[in-house]
Amino acid sequence: MRITGINQYQVDLPLHEGSYKWSGGNSVSVFDSTVVEVETDAGITGYGEVCPLGPAYLPAYAAGARAGIAELAPHLIGLDPTQLGLINQAMDRAMRGHPYVKSALDMACWDILGKASGLPVAVLMGGRHGDDFALYRAISQQSPEAMAESVQNYRSQGYTKFQLKVGGNPDVDIERIKVVAAGLQPGDVLVADANTGWTQHQAVRIADAVRDVDVYIEQPCMRYEECLAVRQHTNRPFVLDEVIDDVAQVLRGYQDRAMDVINLKISKVGGLTKARQIRDLCVSLGIAMTIEDTWGGDIITAAIAHLAHSTPPELLFSSTDFNSYVTVSIAEGAPQRNHGRLGASTEPGLGIAPRMEVLGAGTRVAG
Ligand code: MG
Repeated sequence: MRITGINQYQVDLPLHEGSYKWSGGNSVSVFDSTVVEVETDAGITGYGEVCPLGPAYLPAYAAGARAGIAELAPHLIGLDPTQLGLINQAMDRAMRGHPYVKSALDMACWDILGKASGLPVAVLMGGRHGDDFALYRAISQQSPEAMAESVQNYRSQGYTKFQLKVGGNPDVDIERIKVVAAGLQPGDVLVADANTGWTQHQAVRIADAVRDVDVYIEQPCMRYEECLAVRQHTNRPFVLDEVIDDVAQVLRGYQDRAMDVINLKISKVGGLTKARQIRDLCVSLGIAMTIEDTWGGDIITAAIAHLAHSTPPELLFSSTDFNSYVTVSIAEGAPQRNHGRLGASTEPGLGIAPRMEVLGAGTRVAG
């Protein structure tokens, strides 16, 4: 099988809540997502998606994804999309870095591999563990009381895991954590994600102030060394996210005992192929994972579900259903949340069919 053509589509994904706010005064109201369509000489077409969380979250932005895909796509013409190792080698040789650019192309090739073999991506990635898996809900940064109300709202919809967007004023953040924690039930899971927004001394102070609260601390500071210093001062379980972007960083964190959980985002590490490599390494090392992406619609939600569902449940800390946050559906067949849980499609490939009337005309970038 050979790749014969690649198209890309830009799509706006507005949020049901109107906006999503996190550390540093950052917010997004409409996500700018990109869908790629990979055509083959076998008549099989694969789809992938990439959606950065605005330009300030990671070294990635939506227009950069499209410029990068247009740059990279011609290098894939003539290659066999079912040989994912060769596809990734070709992308890494043609473009250094820019993992998010490669993510949607890699995802589309997994979709093709699944369709060609008649198997869901989750089966190709190791198999389905159980019927479904638990999701977390991200709670946009607001006043402590408003965040507690938001948690109760999503709790009533079946979620039991909540990730508070903190990383703001330290005193208000301490209040956010305490007020929300006071309203939780036994079995609920609370994470305070500062998204790099605290300085080291602020983070040490906050972690100390919540030492008796059942809460996980996620990515308190910008740099790995700052996070490690905070980790060494707190007894709270610890999650690293933004600084964990490849296998080497996972191994460094493991050796330093820098975290209990990592947040594994598909586009942050360059696609499903590399995310699966990190996932399997973490399973072998006993490091739990939140498996998700930087954001996205139905196609990314489907890809997340295949990777999460094929992960042993004892090491799957949580996952995300991004398609429930946004008002636009870009594909049929994507998994839909059921009482705070999600399951991967049992159809071949990603199990989705894009809504071309939503995606529009698109742009041919290769072939
Ligand atoms: Mg995070």
